[in-house]
Amino acid sequence: MSGRIEVGILGATGMVGQQFLNQLARHPWFEPTWLAASGRSEGKRYHEAAPWRLATPVPDGLVDRHVEAAVPGRGPRLVFSALDAGVAGELELAFAEAGHLVVSNARNHRLDRAVPLLVPEVNADHLELVRVQAASKGWKGAIVTNPNCSTVMLTMALAPLRPFGLRSCVVTTLQAVSGAGYPGVPSIDILGNIIPFIAGEEEKIEIETRKILGTLAGDSVDYHPVAVSASTTRVPVVDGHTESVAVSLEASPSLDDVRAALEQFRGRPQELGLPSAPPHPLVYLREHNRPQPRLDVERDGGMTVTVGRLRTCPVLGCKFVVLGHNTVRGAAGAAVLNAELMRAGGWLGE
Ligand code: NAP
Repeated sequence: MSGRIEVGILGATGMVGQQFLNQLARHPWFEPTWLAASGRSEGKRYHEAAPWRLATPVPDGLVDRHVEAAVPGRGPRLVFSALDAGVAGELELAFAEAGHLVVSNARNHRLDRAVPLLVPEVNADHLELVRVQAASKGWKGAIVTNPNCSTVMLTMALAPLRPFGLRSCVVTTLQAVSGAGYPGVPSIDILGNIIPFIAGEEEKIEIETRKILGTLAGDSVDYHPVAVSASTTRVPVVDGHTESVAVSLEASPSLDDVRAALEQFRGRPQELGLPSAPPHPLVYLREHNRPQPRLDVERDGGMTVTVGRLRTCPVLGCKFVVLGHNTVRGAAGAAVLNAELMRAGGWLGE
């Protein structure tokens, strides 16, 4: 396909990097032409550096492509980042300073006052913070981020409930092993087991949710006052983070009203008809035993979040179960949707 915008992938060899290549394989707007990773992979052909780990075939023309060093100034202007968080902080900064538009998955810059932390259906207007970056940091480029993989699904389910007055939320996650990167959690630790600790994850969910649901006010975001309490666990599931959510709402709506709000939820990606936007960002499943990762995680290519088991909570008011694909809606697909939103809004400077 010609006429597509060239893009680079930082961290192209990792779990999320592979999912980026999968998402962009037949993308109508973006074409991955530059694959970058660490010195361990530099100079190797892609298939030598990163044995393919997804169930879909390797995208055409990739197997023999050489992996390059992640050096700012090289590669296209628009780069997606799936860099390990240990290096993403400084490297993404250097790329933005060198004039790249960095659309990142990494946690490092998400809470910077001038950096948009986006879920396009929820807070597309926060993209305006890019102007603050230009003014306050003097970068020629910019950094735009998507949230932690569990936070994406949670905020999508909470956003339609904002009009009822979100007071507090208690969430327990059951997170897939692909969320820990490759090779991730040792098999001997996770098979037939549950690990009730994921370093840093609870803090990320509790604070990122409030920024995303917050209100853009001038040069920054006023965080939403909702109190969030998260408990995170790693479970022996390959793809798909499941979340058990209970919420307290000021308006005490009926369960039917809550269900209707979830089902009617739409956002800017649907209005704009963005290529990666699912027709319904949230799908409510009425069967008593859904959603399930094995049955529901791939809906609309992994971009739809499924919700079910809505019922009364004797403690907080109402509770339900949420499921989303962690490396698609929670990572690469989320970043691609962010870049689509940027292009539709004229932010790519074409
Ligand atoms: P991963 O499988 O461990 O991959 C990390 C990538 O970073 C690899 O491509 C690696 O290249 C590259 N890298 C490491 N050190 C580097 C350096 N010094 N210079 C350049 N590249 C370097 O991790 P992942 O699961 O794909 O996650 C990637 C990022 O996305 C992380 O920040 C993670 O927190 C975030 N994230 C992940 C998920 C998920 O569900 N997995 C969801 C949301 C966000 P080599 O192969 O050459 O070492």
